[in-house]
Amino acid sequence: MKYYILTLFPEMIEDALNTSILGRAKNAGAISFEAVNIRDYTLDKHKKVDDYPYGGGAGMVMQAQPIYDAYKAICEKAGHKVHCIYLTPQGQLFKQQNAKELALKEDICLLCGHYEGIDERVLEEIVDEYYSIGDYVLTGGELPSLVMIDAISRMVPGVLTNSESGEDESLENNLLEYPQYSRPETWNERKVPPILLSGDHAKVDAWRKEQSILRTKERRPDLYAKYLESNVDK
Ligand code: SAM
Repeated sequence: MKYYILTLFPEMIEDALNTSILGRAKNAGAISFEAVNIRDYTLDKHKKVDDYPYGGGAGMVMQAQPIYDAYKAICEKAGHKVHCIYLTPQGQLFKQQNAKELALKEDICLLCGHYEGIDERVLEEIVDEYYSIGDYVLTGGELPSLVMIDAISRMVPGVLTNSESGEDESLENNLLEYPQYSRPETWNERKVPPILLSGDHAKVDAWRKEQSILRTKERRPDLYAKYLESNVDK
């Protein structure tokens, strides 16, 4: 999987993606990324990439030309139209299922907005999908891009090791994961549930399933309703 990130702040992307599991995955060749500085493509002699909004109002708007030229350069390099995603609070909510589907692509371009957003005309020209990471407004698209890259990469073969497997985690089968414990057996007078020390794998599995269901019912009634619906005939 190759990610192209169209951004005004490439260092934000590079710092994050060279770290921890994603940095390891990059070094192993399972993913790669290129943070493309939109400013490098402006034709403005002062390197400007934004201007006042037509019709008035607060803030600045990112202009079409540098974004379009930067995206065209990416597609030329890739040799095809790269699937382009614009991160925006106006997009569909990004979910685990989207991460799984996007992980099947050869490459993706993530467009990060700033200020009041981006001139609509270039969005109409290049964007394939609009995603939001939640119902709140952030200052820029870099953090949302990183959130999406992280979630998608976990679904790319070779990124997680067997022990980090993404198969048995929250949101699979519309359930949250069961509570986890590690050493010591007693901490702050709190004991690990004895069943986890029993060595009886069938009982441990049954307990974990029960805890998953209880936790989902308490914390995410919306997800629990979906779980009940999808398991009605089982
Ligand atoms: N004026 C825009 C609006 O009301 O829709 C918001 C612009 S926001 C201040 C600047 C940039 O941050 C956006 O262009 C987008 O790229 C990014 N952004 C902010 N919140 C986001 C969210 N919840 N999900 C994805 N991207 C977001």
